Amino acid sequence: MAPELATVALDQDAVLAQAGDQIEHVFFPYSGAISLMFEMANGETVASAAVGREGAVGILSLLGPSPSAVTATAVVRATGTAARIPASRFHAAFTRSPAIRNAVQIHLRALLMQFQIGTACNALHPVEARLARWLLHFRDHIDHDMLPITQEALSQMLGVRRTTVTLLMRNLRASGGIRADRRGLIEIDRSRLAAMACECHSTLRLELEEIFLK
Ligand SMILES: [Zn+2]
Repeated sequence: MAPELATVALDQDAVLAQAGDQIEHVFFPYSGAISLMFEMANGETVASAAVGREGAVGILSLLGPSPSAVTATAVVRATGTAARIPASRFHAAFTRSPAIRNAVQIHLRALLMQFQIGTACNALHPVEARLARWLLHFRDHIDHDMLPITQEALSQMLGVRRTTVTLLMRNLRASGGIRADRRGLIEIDRSRLAAMACECHSTLRLELEEIFLK
């Protein structure tokens, strides 16, 4: 696929794919993080998964007998760069190449694992532990304790009001999980935050290592 890949910037809050639209491009992030968002009829949203350099955005809608509309909106949460290919070209490569089909299967297993753990987490775990889990998940994607993510983005991902996020951030700061939070930059203390997150972060990490490294 190399000759058909273009390197593009992933800008903060850029929408790479909109739910309901036909997919135009597939993105393979080199860096940064993208969240897959589901939106209810009343406008409420929740994140179902995050994708970084281990994965791709847009391949789900290219599976099956024919391409279908995108089911989740993909939003850039942490800036970075990605390789981009027209969806039709990726679909052709997918049909042609057993190696690409194999890579897509691995990616899908990882995504399904995120969906499964996310469903259980959303139903069973308190919102503060879920917030800590998402922050650690982003930390895994960007390899830095300074996370370029806004409270607005976190409220959309958790499906709670912005004021709830402000309150939760205050609690996490008081208990040392967050060192600083200003102008869209959240500095975390990784080990303290891990003690506040639900088990889902470490469970997901282990499952993903299993999927990607085997
Ligand atoms: Zn959880």
